[in-house]
Amino acid sequence: MLKNKELQCVRARLKPCARQLYPSRLHAITQANKYNLYLTFAPFCVHFNQDEPWSTKGYRSDSGHVVAYFSFDENLINLAAKAELDNNHGLLGTYLGYPSCCINYFSRVFNEHNTDPVHKFTHYLLSYYDREEQNIFHYPCSPYCPESIKIARLTLNF
Ligand SMILES: [Zn+2]
Repeated sequence: MLKNKELQCVRARLKPCARQLYPSRLHAITQANKYNLYLTFAPFCVHFNQDEPWSTKGYRSDSGHVVAYFSFDENLINLAAKAELDNNHGLLGTYLGYPSCCINYFSRVFNEHNTDPVHKFTHYLLSYYDREEQNIFHYPCSPYCPESIKIARLTLNF
């Protein structure tokens, strides 16, 4: 099984909380047990297709992938789930440990017509086209966002 870099970062307390999609609750529970993290779920599902744009925020559904929140802090998973349910991107981004510059960027540009605000070119550490190799788990505010590069360097250790 592939290593889950994002959950390893949470486990190492480099990242307070993670939001991930799984085909079923059992998949997520298995990951939570493997990395010894608290887990909760969003009360909705999302349709998710590897070939489509990455962001799934805003596509709520009764079926599809479950939205799972993981943390070493039991309180934080519930706060993150609530922030997403309330569509509070800023608060959710903070709980997920995203840099404030990138939270502001996402809050400014994300909408139903722009659900995948990627940059055409980025610093090599910020590449988010290969999900197994990616070292950041948010949309960087710029192709060379220094805060994102800092996070990517820490994630590279995993
Ligand atoms: Zn940034």
